[in-house]
Amino acid sequence: MQKTSEAAPVDFEPTLDFALEQDKQDPLRLFRNRFYFPKVQEKEAIYFCGNSLGLQPKSVEEALLRELEQWRMHGVEGHFEGEMPWMHYHKFLLPQTAQVVGAKEEEVVVMNTLTTNLHLMMVSFYRPAPGRFKIIMEAGAFPSDQYAIESQVRWHGFTPEEAIVEVAPRPGEMLLRQEDIEAIIGQHGRQTALVLFGGVNYFTGQFFDLKAIAEAAHRAGAYVGFDLAHAAGNMLLKLHDWQVDFAVWCSYKYLNSGPGGPGGVFVHEQHGKNPALPRFGGWWGHDENERFQMRKGFKPMPGAAGWQLSNAQVLACAAHKASLDIFAEATMQALRGKSERLTGFLAYLIERSAKEFTILTPEDKDQRGCQLSIYVSSDGKGLFDYLHRNNVICDWREDNLSATGGGVIRVAPVPLYNTFAEVWQFAQLLEAYSG
Ligand SMILES: *Cc1c(COP(=O)(O)O)cnc(C)c1O
Repeated sequence: MQKTSEAAPVDFEPTLDFALEQDKQDPLRLFRNRFYFPKVQEKEAIYFCGNSLGLQPKSVEEALLRELEQWRMHGVEGHFEGEMPWMHYHKFLLPQTAQVVGAKEEEVVVMNTLTTNLHLMMVSFYRPAPGRFKIIMEAGAFPSDQYAIESQVRWHGFTPEEAIVEVAPRPGEMLLRQEDIEAIIGQHGRQTALVLFGGVNYFTGQFFDLKAIAEAAHRAGAYVGFDLAHAAGNMLLKLHDWQVDFAVWCSYKYLNSGPGGPGGVFVHEQHGKNPALPRFGGWWGHDENERFQMRKGFKPMPGAAGWQLSNAQVLACAAHKASLDIFAEATMQALRGKSERLTGFLAYLIERSAKEFTILTPEDKDQRGCQLSIYVSSDGKGLFDYLHRNNVICDWREDNLSATGGGVIRVAPVPLYNTFAEVWQFAQLLEAYSG
C-alpha cells in the first residue's frame, strides 16, 4: 500500500513473563507513578482511553493551587507578580509545545479550543477565489471538523457539494491510500484553495503521510492545514520542516491537560512574518509593546502569537503546563519508541488470537500511533460491557451500517502510563470472552 510495510520485528512472546520483563526494562516505567488511575468497582482500571481524555498528572493539583494562591495573594497584580506572571503566561508553554509538534517557538501558540482555532485558521488560510474555492479533506473526518468546514464554505457563499472534495477509502476498504489522496489533490489542483486533513484519523487510527500531503497541496498551489487532535503527543511531528501552513490540536487527549484544556496552533514562520495576512484580531495578538496603549490600528505580533485574541486562560494553561513538563522530561522520541513496541505487542497478541477480531488500523507502525481500532462484527457492545466489568476503560463506536450490532472498540495503550503487562491482561480478557 503506502510506504513499504515494515512490520515490527517479531521478537515478542505471548506470555505474562515476557510482558513483565519488558516493563522492567522500560526506561519510562517510572512515569506511570506520576498519574492518577481511575477505578472501576474499587479496582484500578486498565486505562486505554488516553486518546479521548488523558489521565491526570499528580502535579496538576499543585500547579493549579499555585495560581489560585497568586490570585488570592495578589489579585490583579498577579499579572506581574511571581515566577510566572499571568501577563506572559502563554509564553511559558511555548518551548515545550514547539518540541511536541516539531516547530519553532514563534510558530506555536496555546489558546482557545480546537474547533475555535480551526475557524480562526480558516479565516486566514481558506480565502476562496472564483476559480479556486475547493477544500480537500478526508471522508469520515471527526464531525466537528466537518461542521467547521461546511459552515466556512457556506459563509463564503458556496455549497458543500461544490466546494468540499472528500477522499474516501476504495470500496470494501477502510483506510485511505496515499496514492488516492495525492491523485485527488492533483485532479482538483487548480481549483483547490485548501487541503485539510487529520493527522491520525480518530476512527481507524490511520496516520497519514503529512509531509507528502503538504508537498502535494503545495504543488497544486493550495494551502495545507492539519487537525492533530489525535497526533499531538502521540506521533513524531516536524511541522516546520514539512512546510505545513497551519495546524491545530487539543491538549486533553494524549497531552493530558484535563477536560476542555486549551488548544494549540501552529502557523509556519513564513506566514507568521506576514502582518498583511488577513486574520481576526484581538488585543492579545496585538504588538505587545503597544498592547496597553489602547490605540486604534491592529498591528499583529509576529508569529503564531499574532492570532491570539484574548489573554491566556491561566488555570487551564497551568494544568497543561504541568503535563508538558512531563513530556519534556520523557521526550517525544523515547515515548514514540516505547509506543511502537507497546501497540506492536497488542497487535501481535490480537493477531495470534483464535478469536476473529479484525484490526482496522494499519499494520505498518509508520502509519499508526498508540491506538488500535478493533472491528467486532456482532454484539460489539456486549464485548465492550464485558471489558468494562473487567476493569478496562476503552471506547466503543457502533457501526450504524451493521445489522448485527457490529462496531469498533478503540484501545490506546499510552507510553507515558500504560504497561506491557496491561496489554497482556487486556489480550487475555479478549481471549476469555465468550459472548
Ligand atoms: C477531539 C477532536 C476534536 C474536538 O474538538 P474541540 O473543539 O476540542 O471540542 C476535534 N477534531 C478532532 C479530529 C478530534 O479528534
